[in-house]
Amino acid sequence: MNIVPLAYPQKGSAKKTGYWRIFRPKINYEKCIKCMICWLYCPEGSISIINNKPVIDYDYCKGCGICANECPVKAIEMVKE
Ligand code: SF4
Ligand code: SF4
Repeated sequence: MNIVPLAYPQKGSAKKTGYWRIFRPKINYEKCIKCMICWLYCPEGSISIINNKPVIDYDYCKGCGICANECPVKAIEMVKE
């Protein structure tokens, strides 16, 4: 089952906002327990659940780090672009 955010990131006047990013969230799927907390907290709607795992849309992720901060098992690392 695929779960997508209620609010979709879309091209607006700022176009794709992923290029604003300085740090990129990287998911370690070995550690991920598929709790979907990152999906719930992402303020940009940039995380979808695809085939029961979180997938980040780097076209719109702004690299705020909230997902990494909220992940209960620290499966998301912020790495410099
Ligand atoms: S870094 Fe921020 S914008 Fe990017 S996926 Fe995580 S919570 Fe969403
Ligand atoms: S919050 Fe962490 S453990 Fe939960 S789905 Fe996201 S990456 Fe996986």
